[in-house]
Amino acid sequence: MNIAIVGAGVLGRLLALTLIEQKHQITVIDKQPLHEPTNAAYVSAGMLCPLGEVIHAPAAVVAMGLESLKVWPDILSQLQALDPENETVFFAQQGSLALSFPADASSFAQLKQDLEHKTGEQRHQVETLNRQQLLDLEPALNKFGDAVLLGNEGQLCNRSFLRSSTRVIGKYAATELANIQTTADWQSLCNRYDWVLDCRGSGAIANTTSPTDMTQLRGLRGEVIRVRCPEVQLSRPVRVVHPRASIYIVPKPSHEFVVGATEIESHSEHPITVRSTLELLSTLYAVNSGFAEAVVLETNVGIRAAFDDHQPRVERQDNLISANGLYRHGWLVGPALAQQVIYLMQEATHERAH
Ligand SMILES: Cc1cc2nc3c(=O)[nH]c(=O)nc-3n(C[C@H](O)[C@H](O)[C@H](O)COP(=O)(O)OP(=O)(O)OC[C@H]3O[C@@H](n4cnc5c(N)ncnc54)[C@H](O)[C@@H]3O)c2cc1C
Repeated sequence: MNIAIVGAGVLGRLLALTLIEQKHQITVIDKQPLHEPTNAAYVSAGMLCPLGEVIHAPAAVVAMGLESLKVWPDILSQLQALDPENETVFFAQQGSLALSFPADASSFAQLKQDLEHKTGEQRHQVETLNRQQLLDLEPALNKFGDAVLLGNEGQLCNRSFLRSSTRVIGKYAATELANIQTTADWQSLCNRYDWVLDCRGSGAIANTTSPTDMTQLRGLRGEVIRVRCPEVQLSRPVRVVHPRASIYIVPKPSHEFVVGATEIESHSEHPITVRSTLELLSTLYAVNSGFAEAVVLETNVGIRAAFDDHQPRVERQDNLISANGLYRHGWLVGPALAQQVIYLMQEATHERAH
């Protein structure tokens, strides 16, 4: 089939890879060049932490996250197989940690309670560590009394995935640089292709021209800071629980760390504020004073598109399918959501043929 994918963020690229494997003819359309993204996929931290997200995510999202975690290694091998010259995408699954400073102990107690009540069959993945156990795992976290280890959780290098998928898409699919904005744009695409998959993320907020209903989408601004710090070693994402918004520190290859993220009710993309910079960097420094020597590589802002229930939605109108509302979980749930879109497309193709 001849399929157009509008939006080359997390979801659009995952769909492109699967559909390329299935030997469809794919055109990937984005308003930004694929090799120079500034989308949420690029800004994000690439954490794959279903249980750590229990506060923000309904049970269905946690379940999609657990399902997706299992398939990420296969997706990354597939990327490599489609272009053996591709860089290896960093993927680690050594668990994640949650902890708090003494002043925020009540928020930490709440997280522990949530983990106890909402993790169901995965409860065995939740382990409380005392100070010594924590130090054995992460010597750099020597200011904390205890922590929770979420044993199965992981992360990937989002930017490396974007680079590798750009190469694969360039090799096996057509690409188009276009801003799909008007009703006429959608009509023209739907006339030209067997299927049009709308994966615009925050680009769909307040844009009612698409025939599918995404009018309830809203934007949640997230700010992150990327630093380089050879002085501090961490092996897994660390979530510092706080009553307003937890702050995470995610170690990346080459001594880099992503520190994030704020969550502000807005879809404004203006640069990071002083308040957010102070919040993120003072937490980083408080976790380990060795971060004082960190070099700030960049500050970034991304918009998470979300529905009120924080669950992604897939809507179909004739040969157009829109999938959106991945909120703060695009990498976490992307593979499972891509699979839902593909099932819907296959089912409808089958219905049409009979
Ligand atoms: C600060 C921050 C940290 C995050 N950390 C994590 C994390 O650790 N783990 C996790 O799982 N998720 C995380 N997320 C969430 C994740 O980034 C998003 O859920 C995910 O990127 C959404 O994927 P998407 O494909 O729907 O949209 P996007 O990744 O935003 O991609 C949408 C694409 O559509 C294109 N587009 C938009 N409008 C148009 C148009 N009109 N015409 C053509 N193209 C268009 C854009 O250029 C873009 O390339 C984070 C988000 C932020 C902001």
